[in-house]
Amino acid sequence: MIETAQLEKNLEAVEGRIARACSRAGRKEHEVQLVAVSKLHPPEVLRRAYDCGIRHFGENYAQELRDKQVALADLPGIRWHAIGPVQTRNAKYLARAAHVFHALEKVEIAEELSKKRTGEPLDCLVEVNAAREATKAGIEHGEVAAFVDRIRSLPGLRVTGLMTMPPLHADPETSRLPFRALHALAQRLGLKELSMGSTHDFEVAIEEGATLVRVGTALFGTRPATFP
Ligand SMILES: *Cc1c(COP(=O)(O)O)cnc(C)c1O
Repeated sequence: MIETAQLEKNLEAVEGRIARACSRAGRKEHEVQLVAVSKLHPPEVLRRAYDCGIRHFGENYAQELRDKQVALADLPGIRWHAIGPVQTRNAKYLARAAHVFHALEKVEIAEELSKKRTGEPLDCLVEVNAAREATKAGIEHGEVAAFVDRIRSLPGLRVTGLMTMPPLHADPETSRLPFRALHALAQRLGLKELSMGSTHDFEVAIEEGATLVRVGTALFGTRPATFP
């Protein structure tokens, strides 16, 4: 398990890279929110991250997010980001526990989240298949506007932006055009939030307008294979 001192060092390094990418792009640092992707790490690691000042955590699995929220309920101010796909039968966990859902791509899931959500609306980002690869998750560019129209009226949800995860290539520059295209699409649709960029390409993402970057490995090191 990663030590707090190492985590602090990693966080400082990531924040420095965010700051430099912002400065290259002429953007303000407060425009970019770091989401610490803590999936598969035990709650104790999140506790250490919290001690380092991290409040935004990204989780991929609905039940794991629910369990961690319970385990860390004593820590005030945490914002839970659900960043992975969810099945209809698990959507209720997200509806109860998440603050932001980054991977909305199905009307049925939107309807289920809407039905189960109480209290403050769930901020949702629509996942777009920005690299236009048939095998990748997300809605095709041309279908995003109609999808957003359909889910905009659902109570309990607030469509705030778009998300994408381009395929991993050794060169982060291969993500640039997909990120740029997502930014253009979000602007056309009047959506403010752009969730793009992970460890290997978050600087490119910031240069192309990301408002949320989802960084795991650069902060926490290699992930365990399974959740304890
Ligand atoms: C795991 C994951 C990340 C973080 O990936 P790292 O390479 O560890 O930074 C970001 N986004 C999504 C959707 C993920 O599933």
